[in-house]
Amino acid sequence: MDHIKRAIRTIPDYPKPGIQFRDVTTLLGDAAALRATVDALVYPYAGRKIDKVAGIEARGFILGGAVAHQLSVGFIPVRKKGKLPHDTVGQSYELEYGTDEVEIHADAVTPGECVLVVDDLIATGGTAEAAIQLLQKVGAEVVGASFIVDLPDLGGARRVAATGVPVTRLVEFEGD
Ligand code: AMP
Repeated sequence: MDHIKRAIRTIPDYPKPGIQFRDVTTLLGDAAALRATVDALVYPYAGRKIDKVAGIEARGFILGGAVAHQLSVGFIPVRKKGKLPHDTVGQSYELEYGTDEVEIHADAVTPGECVLVVDDLIATGGTAEAAIQLLQKVGAEVVGASFIVDLPDLGGARRVAATGVPVTRLVEFEGD
């Protein structure tokens, strides 16, 4: 996984002082690293029953789309509130200041379908947990949540694993 980690660029103090932004656009632009990343995200689920991949806006769309293609399954966009055109269901979650909400189309999942959640990075786990709760609310069986990057100091992977959903992450960075 070293080559995957090396392909991720770190931007200090973005979007605000003290945050080390882990920028995966450099990884997305590197053909070998992108293929290795998608292969590694797919590997634990090859041969398993997956009906759909749900990707979290916006970088989760890129990766989740590639993972869905590789698994030959459909894709569900998990979007920020107000972006989807048809009937939606939503799930709000706490931010450092205030709350945010993610939405999917109400008919995106057939009850009982096995869904894999994909995003680029897990920090506090709030976004991923909300996406999982949302999918479960419409009857999905969430079989896993997969990320390129984990920031273990923020405890998100532990938080999601505590809900009973197995977590896959390829690389870790210290700090937040
Ligand atoms: P969280 O809900 O705290 O787990 O935050 C996860 C979401 O915020 C993901 O969609 C990430 O893309 C983004 N994010 C949080 N922290 C960082 C960071 N240090 N670098 C890049 N993206 C981040």
